[in-house]
Amino acid sequence: MEIIVQKFGGSSVANTDKLFNVCKHITKEKNKGNAVVVVISAQGKTTDELISQEKEITSNPNKREHDMLVSVGEQISVAKLAMCLEELGYEAKPYLGWQVPIITDSNFGDANIIQIKTNKIIQDLQQGKIVIIAGFQGIDKNQDITTLGRGGSDTTAIALAVDLNAQKCEIFTDVDGVYSEDPNKNKNAVRYDKISYDKMLEMANNGAKVLHNKCVKMAKEKNVKIIVKSTFKEESQGTIVKA
Ligand code: ADP
Ligand code: ASP
Ligand code: MG
Repeated sequence: MEIIVQKFGGSSVANTDKLFNVCKHITKEKNKGNAVVVVISAQGKTTDELISQEKEITSNPNKREHDMLVSVGEQISVAKLAMCLEELGYEAKPYLGWQVPIITDSNFGDANIIQIKTNKIIQDLQQGKIVIIAGFQGIDKNQDITTLGRGGSDTTAIALAVDLNAQKCEIFTDVDGVYSEDPNKNKNAVRYDKISYDKMLEMANNGAKVLHNKCVKMAKEKNVKIIVKSTFKEESQGTIVKA
């Protein structure tokens, strides 16, 4: 069974039309006979909105409650994406971090993945289901919900690709690859066809949020190839991040 992990960021799933658009990428791989695991983020600016609602209450939230709140966006998006796929006639199985489970340390707000129990995922894939996993979240040894840091869904995707021994990990986003600089800020930025883990890590550490820095670190350690591509511009080949 060839397993493919596809991750879609917040702007790629911002509304119902966009959720159905994402289904095209997913079902294309599924129709080729691949086993597909999808990771998605919260829709649009949902996580930012949750944080501003929190700020209406306190500037110093209890960290456990903070993670309980900011992880909620992904619960909405995985359930909706599963419904979209089911509407299209596919069998889907959405999971929150704790349901997998994706076990993390207790570093609330910036937790690290310790272990992913993949048995339920593999069983679902064997039954032909498209598995959908909430990005950005996990559960610690005390059964408390944790989050992996802003942009952390990328890290969920890579960790799953590692543990499922996936054939490829595609990160779909709102730009068509990794550029020399943020293409939304500098129109002269050039897109890389390929980029090394080290160069990408340097860019991520300097704030190029196209990939979460922890995800690049993990991909380098485990030698997982990352493909960054556009959700909306199908003709672009994107950028391969590798050694
Ligand atoms: P997603 O919601 O898909 O995770 P993000 O907003 O986290 O997307 O990351 C994509 C954004 O990263 C782009 O819209 C772009 O503005 C920004 N970005 C910053 N630096 C770069 C870069 N060097 N190459 C590509 N995109 C970059
Ligand atoms: N929804 C989370 C955030 O906005 C995680 C992610 O998008 O990767 O940071
Ligand atoms: Mg992101």
